[in-house]
Amino acid sequence: DKLQEERMRYLNDEKRIKAVTVCFTDLEGRLHMLDYDKKFLLKSADNLTFDGSSIRGFSQQSESDLRLGIDWGAFYWLPADIFGPGKVLVFGQVLERDGSAYPADFRSRLQAYTAELFAKQGIVCNVANEIEGFLFKGRNAEQHYRDTGHFEFVSTGGYYNSLPGDPLRLFIDAAAEAQRAMGFANEKDHPEVAPSQFEMNYSYTEASVAADQVLLYKLICRQLAYKLDLTASFLPKPVTGVNGSGMHTNMSLAKGDTNLFYDANGEEGLSEYGWSYVDRILTSGLDLCLLLNSSVNSYRRLDPHYEAPNQIKASAIDRGSMVRIPLGNARSARIEVRSIAPDANPHMAIYSILKVGLEGPKADTSVRKGAKVLPDNIYDAIEAFQASEIIASVLGEEIQAKYAELKIASADRCPHRLGTLIKRSEVQFH
Ligand code: GLN
Ligand code: MG
Ligand code: MG
Ligand code: MG
Repeated sequence: DKLQEERMRYLNDEKRIKAVTVCFTDLEGRLHMLDYDKKFLLKSADNLTFDGSSIRGFSQQSESDLRLGIDWGAFYWLPADIFGPGKVLVFGQVLERDGSAYPADFRSRLQAYTAELFAKQGIVCNVANEIEGFLFKGRNAEQHYRDTGHFEFVSTGGYYNSLPGDPLRLFIDAAAEAQRAMGFANEKDHPEVAPSQFEMNYSYTEASVAADQVLLYKLICRQLAYKLDLTASFLPKPVTGVNGSGMHTNMSLAKGDTNLFYDANGEEGLSEYGWSYVDRILTSGLDLCLLLNSSVNSYRRLDPHYEAPNQIKASAIDRGSMVRIPLGNARSARIEVRSIAPDANPHMAIYSILKVGLEGPKADTSVRKGAKVLPDNIYDAIEAFQASEIIASVLGEEIQAKYAELKIASADRCPHRLGTLIKRSEVQFH
């Protein structure tokens, strides 16, 4: 198409570019990258293949080759001071051998779903993420943790810290500049409550772009920290006794200039439409939990004493609620899903919330008050996920099984609980 032609001509003419990084994510949201020589890519862009069997949660050996399409709309220059000169990155689309969309590629699925929503109902899903993370001393903080049992903070400055030369402050500024250079509309960057913790806030943008930004932001932070001889970590609860890191996800739906979530006279300024979206999410709160909190570690974060949610309810003020309704106006009315950790697959998380919020079953409005709590360990979350009909219909049974399989493998530490979960050998892949 036209955009492809335009971008390919640009690549061809831009002498500084020698190679192009094509990236995509696996089922768990890990970013994978393939570096293509520019000349090769220009010749073969419509015929790229890769070995899908090497990607966790993707195809099996017997059907290992998958195709890789290119989403020419998601094309970025990477900042030279962090990544080196002449580096560009573009998102790929994982495709079956026959060229159809690969169901485990949730970036494509989110794009397809939002496109359908727009085509059929004229509705746009706006998302703004707040991503928190920690900055630790040393390039290999993980090894340091194994050796000593702790991570070393780089700063004790705290919220709004403004001391000159503070390493956290310098890191935040450089990460923010890198993103502006890439064209992201990041709104606000600041140190967070815990020592050595940072947060980045984006402006509202279309759902799948918002998810792309999460992946690229984490990439930038990790690379930048590496350059500074530090480690950026998006582990949900790396240090006990202080706040963990969340990825609060603000969402609203709009039709033209009308924010469908706003009603000045509605409860908390939220429309009936918005409340029905919230009710559906809460009704399936337990089912969704594993997708939003996908690691063993993320369950340590879900503690209201550290401003993280543990209750399946909605509230304007209580930060222990899975969903909060921030004070909003006609433009900014939205919901904030607080029970998402920064190591979740952002495309899959947003896709699932959106689909459940619009199409999921709905209990009565008492779900808003919240009798139920979120699981405090991954085993309970896996159990709810595996048994869930709504998850089967949102993800498809095969993806549900594959994802559960990966999570059971990651939780392989508590044999007495694993016995109660579906065993690996019983999971059938097609
Ligand atoms: N760090 C908290 C969490 O884990 C959030 C703190 C805040 O943004 N006020 O969700
Ligand atoms: Mg915030
Ligand atoms: Mg915060
Ligand atoms: Mg928040």
